[in-house]
Amino acid sequence: MTTPQIRPPEELRPLLDRAPRSIIIGGRAAGAAEGGEIETLDPATGEVLTRIAAGTAADVDRAVAAASAAFPSWRELSPDARGRLLSDLSVLIEENAGELAMLETLDNGKPMTESLYLDVGLAAQSWRYYAGWPTKLSGQTPPISPMVGQSFVYTRREPLGVVGAIVPWNFPLLMATWKLAPALAAGNTVVLKPSEMTSLSALRLVELAAEAGFPPGVINLVTGYGHQAGQALIEHPGVAKISFTGSTATGRRIVTASAGSLKKLTLELGGKSANIVFPDADLALAAQGALTGIFLNQGQVCCAGSRLMVHRDAHDDLVGELEKAAREIRLGHGLADDTEMGPLVSATQLERVMRYVESGRDQGATLVCGGERPDGPLSDGYYLRPTIFTDVRDDMAIASEEIFGPVLSVLTFDDEEEAVRRANSTEYGLAAGVWTSDIKRAHRVAHGLQAGTVWVNTYNMLDPAAPFGGYKASGYGRDLGEESLLGFTQTKSVWVGLD
Ligand code: NDP
Repeated sequence: MTTPQIRPPEELRPLLDRAPRSIIIGGRAAGAAEGGEIETLDPATGEVLTRIAAGTAADVDRAVAAASAAFPSWRELSPDARGRLLSDLSVLIEENAGELAMLETLDNGKPMTESLYLDVGLAAQSWRYYAGWPTKLSGQTPPISPMVGQSFVYTRREPLGVVGAIVPWNFPLLMATWKLAPALAAGNTVVLKPSEMTSLSALRLVELAAEAGFPPGVINLVTGYGHQAGQALIEHPGVAKISFTGSTATGRRIVTASAGSLKKLTLELGGKSANIVFPDADLALAAQGALTGIFLNQGQVCCAGSRLMVHRDAHDDLVGELEKAAREIRLGHGLADDTEMGPLVSATQLERVMRYVESGRDQGATLVCGGERPDGPLSDGYYLRPTIFTDVRDDMAIASEEIFGPVLSVLTFDDEEEAVRRANSTEYGLAAGVWTSDIKRAHRVAHGLQAGTVWVNTYNMLDPAAPFGGYKASGYGRDLGEESLLGFTQTKSVWVGLD
């Protein structure tokens, strides 16, 4: 087991020293107007990394004003110039990949390989993808049949104005990217509010955007608590749209708070995704997919395959493989070379997940492995051993509620109809997985599942071109793809009389 005696690398010191001035408005970095600060911890050790500014309504107000002032010239910038800036930022992200990955690992706990290839790699790819869109975002000339005389109509895709982006702590850089890149490509300006637990990569991202040449005020950053800075942003009358990723509970608060000003919303919320394994599947592959599905990012993934539904005939073999692999996963500080799984993001999140482990035990599920914190050198960090429950019933809390930790609930089923019905019997609908070698079954089940993404014989695959978002209480609107871009625009029909 890796020792946690790892300190922040010296090369990050300048950024950690700058962090108390983490509010960037109109290109200028400052502390919070009311002077508040928040400690940022390394979840692997519980030690304080640095402090960030605790922005409040006063800071949000100034940030929205700066974004509003920058909007007219940003929307008028040529599509080519806008795309070039996004592309230049993607290059800078790649050039600074090591630093960004270390920040993400220190702040969130995830292993460096995940930070580097998933968070930073996919963020750079997403900026590059949206860099290509400003020059392709076009309207239509619908074929009309006017009641009187001759006219023609064309449509324009116009930006909305100031967008508020509120992102969580599980993929801080990536989620900020998924909001900012399409919003900016479509000609909007932005105020970003990261989670107060993981704001460092957002701070660096906004600095890099300035280096790439984004004009002051186009991207503004207000760090702070959700109930202060976040709440002020969702209530602000100068904000045209909120794009949010986080819990369903906070998503509901945003819907209520935004009703007065009728803000547009994209909400990417929680999940309880079913990962369904049929007996004709390649079980070795399915086992790998199930492990990645639940243990990536310590299970703190909105689309985690947290309900593993296994056909009764495949159950014992699959669970045997999963248990063996889960017991071998090496816990440790994310910066250590041999770490395969890091700590949870915070003491609060660890307590929350431990409560679910207790409830699983209390409600009669069988704990196959994990369910406990490691002792010894890792005991100061927020670690939990990879946990697997079998004999899980649909009515148990561990089968129906989002745990957001490394806890897998294994359920059994007997036939396809039952699998699809029970997979759909949740308020959520973010993602699902299907493992089978029967191509007809694969498509039948994929079509029957109520989920925004269905993976067949794979899991947790993401690409900036493929829309991502939820059915039901997992939210509405989509991140990624053209669909996300269009969500940051409004359509104007222009009629031209020809008589
Ligand atoms: P939240 O949904 O509360 O946090 C997500 C973001 O929303 C953060 O930036 C947070 O800020 C902000 N926020 C919180 N309250 C408000 C508000 N009133 N107005 C505006 N913004 C707000 O998630 P938690 O951090 O509380 O995590 C709790 C649970 O939520 C997890 O266990 C998990 O189940 C789920 N979750 C799901 C995510 C997903 O990707 N679907 C991501 C994160 C959590 P701040 O953190 O600074 O308070």
